[in-house]
Amino acid sequence: MLSVAEYLDLVLDSVSELPAMELPISDVNGCVLAQDIYARWPLPSFDNSSMDGYAVIAADLAHASESVPISLPVIDDIPAGFKSLETLQSGQAIRIMTGAPMPAGADSVIRVEDTDGGSGVVRIQVPIEVGSCVRREGEDVQAGDLVLTKGTFIGPRQIALIAAVGHGVISVIPKPRVAVLATGSELVEPGTELKYGLISDSNSFLITAIANDSGATAYRLPPVQDDEDALIEILQDQVHRADLIITTGGVSMGAYDPVKSAFLKLGTAQFHKVAMQPGMPQGFGSVGEPAIPIITLPGNPVSAYVSFEVFIRPAIRKMRGLKQLERPHRSATLKGELQSPINKVQFARGRFMAEEQVELVGTGQGSHVLGGLAQADALIVIPVGVDSITNGEQVQVIDVRGDLT
Ligand code: AMP
Ligand code: MG
Repeated sequence: MLSVAEYLDLVLDSVSELPAMELPISDVNGCVLAQDIYARWPLPSFDNSSMDGYAVIAADLAHASESVPISLPVIDDIPAGFKSLETLQSGQAIRIMTGAPMPAGADSVIRVEDTDGGSGVVRIQVPIEVGSCVRREGEDVQAGDLVLTKGTFIGPRQIALIAAVGHGVISVIPKPRVAVLATGSELVEPGTELKYGLISDSNSFLITAIANDSGATAYRLPPVQDDEDALIEILQDQVHRADLIITTGGVSMGAYDPVKSAFLKLGTAQFHKVAMQPGMPQGFGSVGEPAIPIITLPGNPVSAYVSFEVFIRPAIRKMRGLKQLERPHRSATLKGELQSPINKVQFARGRFMAEEQVELVGTGQGSHVLGGLAQADALIVIPVGVDSITNGEQVQVIDVRGDLT
């Protein structure tokens, strides 16, 4: 039997960071930068107005007041996207919109709210300081600046900057394409009537959703019967589309478990018992040419879920080029009592009651207890060597709130 840490190392060694590719920036949310980003031009790239108002020379308004407003002729009008051909002289105003380039000769903008809004002549009742409401060229970013470095995680805020400094297509580590396949002759599509002895496939939905949440582009395949030939056919098709294949079911000791034999025929695979509960039977390997990694999860839904969190989330994050692979652990006190097998790590399902307190959820810790899993937002980690936890004891907890991070 392998420890959780030993098996995690094996799984992580079996996957690699994906090769970089060029993608349009509409498709890079959640990817990792595979190049440095330099600004092709300054930001702002020209002096422009930060307000709708009038471009003026501030000195002209020095004596403006409510009782003695200053009136200036409006000699031009500049919407965003246009520039004025006029050069502003002392005693003149040019109407200007937010984002429009400052006209030559003007040094400031007076907000429309501080004027009567006139179009032929504008009356202004307040003085302003030189430079008011003007955004200066380069005050944010200089042309040629290194604005983001290779290895940076790209989220919405980074995408805005990349677009602004002039890049439409960039080099990134793409999101892994993950095929999810549930095996089991008892599985039917949810929503159809159940004949006696059959169950709804829930694993493939669970694993597809969580793989997407962990930054993959995952897609679900219809469940496959416990039939080696059927499985081989599907796998041969998927090796051309996927960067990782995840299966559930069919890897325990059952007489009709076809996953092991199918993988051993198609490529390499190793199956291990891991000292954990739930999730003891695990396997991984590769199929196809070039070899695509496969990870086989146990069929019990809670086992599949816990195994995903412990092994596959870190593997997907490695493929994405991220450095932080595991979810944060934190300490909490346990409300309730729990028995644990002394020679295994137990991942019990719990729920945060406060930032540092968790309680158990569900009717026991059976690996089929989906009702409890749906209430959980914490995995309580009971290490090897501990066989019971009493009420109020400190425990280590994996915080699984925020699936999308
Ligand atoms: P197995 O690992 O194939 O022996 O399956 C272990 C248990 O998990 C059995 O009770 C299966 O019926 C159940 N199971 C297997 N696959 C799924 C699935 N896709 N959705 C829900 N339960 C499943
Ligand atoms: Mg099965």
